[in-house]
This record gives sequence, C-alpha cells and structure tokens, in this order.
Amino acid sequence: MQANRRRDTKPERALRSLLFAAGYRYRCDLRIPLEGTFARPDIVFTRQKITIFVDGCFWHSCPTHGSVPRRNADYWRPKLERNRVRDAVQSRALQAAGWRVIRIWEHVPPDVALRTVVSAVRIRAEAGAPHFVGGADQTRLAHNVGQSGGACSD
Ligand SMILES: [Zn+2]
Repeated sequence: MQANRRRDTKPERALRSLLFAAGYRYRCDLRIPLEGTFARPDIVFTRQKITIFVDGCFWHSCPTHGSVPRRNADYWRPKLERNRVRDAVQSRALQAAGWRVIRIWEHVPPDVALRTVVSAVRIRAEAGAPHFVGGADQTRLAHNVGQSGGACSD
C-alpha cells in the first residue's frame, strides 16, 4: 500500500506474537476509512476502537534515531516530512472518529510495547465494552483472529 513502508516489520511481528500469546485477538492491516483519508494501522482492536502503529525510526523520523540521509538530502527531507504530516493527519482523523491511537517506535522493546497496548485495551474494555473479558474469551473474539501465531497474511 505505502511503498515507503515495509509491511510486517520485525518489531510489528514481535508485538503481534506477544499479544497473541497473551490471548489477545486483533485485526491486522485493516483499512479504516476516515474523513478525507484512510488509515491502515498495523494492529487494530475493533471492539475497543484502538489502533496501533509500529513506526519505523527512519521512515517516521524518530527523535532518537531519525535522520535525513546526507546523500540525496533534497529528496529525503521532503519525503520524510510528508510521512510526518501524514502520520499526524491520520492520527487526528482517527481520534476524531473515536479511535484511540497508539504509536510505538520500532526501537521500543516488544515487552514494553506489549504493556502499553495491554493497559490501553484494558482501560477501553472497562470504560466502553462491559462484555469484553480480556484475552480469555477467545470464542467471542474468534472473528477477529487474523491467523494463528500472530502473523498476518492478508
Ligand atoms: Zn528510534
């Protein structure tokens, strides 16, 4: 979809595997239509309305690891800037539509990312979805399963 972003990067896969192993079920690469745009988050909890993006440090200009390559800087600077703008537009549009947006840098250790996501899912589950019972009720959430093992092939 986005030529400048690899799908299924290693940090994404690691986070999905951990979530899956913890019993959470989610959608991968779900296309969410939005006002004037659309988003395709890396992980989506449809019931809790949570979107998760695992952002590459280079492509999304991480404050710690992001940099403009010296070679062809005239090409890279506007390209990376467009990515930043698109990220912000998508986040705002998602939030306006009631989605919680979680952006995780690819350098964040997967277990830390897992804790961030799990606490967000719990908070949303308690606040807005009284019938949600965490990761235990796999039957109820079976329709959300992309593929066993936490990978995505769609
Ligand atoms: Zn980084």
